[in-house]
Amino acid sequence: MKKDICLILLGAPGAGKGTQAKQLVDIFEMIQLSTGEMLREEVAKKSTKGIKANEYMKAGSLVPDDLIIEMLKDRLVNVTQSVILDGFPRTEKQAEALDDMIESLGKQIDYVINISVDDEKLISRLSGRLVCKNCGASFHKMFAVPLIEGKCDFCKGELYQRSDDKPESIKNRLEVYHKSTKPLIDFYKTKGLFYEIDGDQSADQVLLMLKSILSEGK
Ligand code: AMP
Repeated sequence: MKKDICLILLGAPGAGKGTQAKQLVDIFEMIQLSTGEMLREEVAKKSTKGIKANEYMKAGSLVPDDLIIEMLKDRLVNVTQSVILDGFPRTEKQAEALDDMIESLGKQIDYVINISVDDEKLISRLSGRLVCKNCGASFHKMFAVPLIEGKCDFCKGELYQRSDDKPESIKNRLEVYHKSTKPLIDFYKTKGLFYEIDGDQSADQVLLMLKSILSEGK
């Protein structure tokens, strides 16, 4: 893989962006910047940002662009190696702000990879999802059952159901995805950086496809 790349992982909630990003971090020594994880940390700290964001997150709505863009910018300026953006951008305004940030940092976006999964599958993935409080690894009550109930296979951290993985929030998150985030596919297609992976296959198969795109050394 080329050095110091910037990869954007696009996809609906539950498409597997976070799971794949964690694998790529291990394999390619990349850094994962997940705006969802950053926000959940702020919520846990009860910071001003976290308190503001939590209202939107619980409802499955998007947190205001300005807050998210500032938060991402603060982290991106300190990155000196290959980076995966997971969950950002999610609106056209964020995508434009990212272009500006990347340019001012003298970097470039190298790959935009969309992991596509249909809504029905996403709903069943999200409603059974269990996440490790400690390392963020994802499991599923039926499709990826942890070895010990309630415990993470990797770090033995406690597993929990995210408050936005409840039916009403899931419905809203998917609506928001179709309205605000899916149009980014066309935004990036026109820039010629775009790849698509069928996310309705095993996590191992999706990872193989990701590795093959990144190894092309475009
Ligand atoms: P995620 O973990 O990526 O599913 O994000 C969880 C929640 O955090 C989302 O449903 C939004 O409320 C919020 N969030 C994460 N990333 C963004 C973003 N780029 N723009 C706006 N809201 C975001």
